[in-house]
Amino acid sequence: MGHSATRLAKTRLETSALLVSRHPLGEADLIVRFFTETVGMVATVARNARRSAKRFGALEPMHLLQVEIDCSPVRELGTLTEARIERARIGLTSRLATMEAAGQALRWLRRAAPNRSAEPQLWYEVNMLLDRLDHLAVAQDAVHDRAHDRVHDGSQDNETATLLAATGLRLLSASGWGLELECCVRCRKPCPERSRSILDVAAGGIVCRDCGGRGDVLSAAERLAFLDSAAGTGTSLNPFARRVIDFVEQAFEIHGRGDAT
Ligand SMILES: [Zn+2]
Repeated sequence: MGHSATRLAKTRLETSALLVSRHPLGEADLIVRFFTETVGMVATVARNARRSAKRFGALEPMHLLQVEIDCSPVRELGTLTEARIERARIGLTSRLATMEAAGQALRWLRRAAPNRSAEPQLWYEVNMLLDRLDHLAVAQDAVHDRAHDRVHDGSQDNETATLLAATGLRLLSASGWGLELECCVRCRKPCPERSRSILDVAAGGIVCRDCGGRGDVLSAAERLAFLDSAAGTGTSLNPFARRVIDFVEQAFEIHGRGDAT
């Protein structure tokens, strides 16, 4: 039997996956990056994907996909052999606000997830967010249809932002980059419960005045809401969601891996 064939044997990977990016390659192909349940981030070549839309029917972000990838031990790029939708998220993809929130979460994910390493916590958080955004869009559409009222009231955007903010804080923690909000990151002195504190995202959390804290002022209410959001939907973050999203964005820019495109 051919030893060289054994040595170069491909392995067929079948896994649930999210599409995180796609770029043209040559005339006909695509480079498609997936965040998979079983091996984390993996880049693949989808041969002829640009020639024939039918070749791979489901090369779309946001939906939960089922993919088959041939992985060679000597090549960094796998070869995509099949992609189909395992669970469609039609509500999510029907709205700009939920699409934008989901897109931002996927950009954070690209910063957070290393190549070829299963990340069950990141997998869980991102899919939970996408499912919640999907349900939110469906529920809001139902309300609006009943009211025959398509007027944009802004509260939907806030609910979307709140979900994204809470997920962002948890993605940071799951990546080992969680913000320290209970005590000063330098001297470990606990934060005063009823007064303002200073968040220095680059330092990794609160820095007290004695340690020369510089950065954004957090009110006591904000700090407690941020801490509270470690679990659940983060409803207490509601009034501060946009601020939290900015902090999370900053933190991922500081810590994140370079290949976030
Ligand atoms: Zn200190």
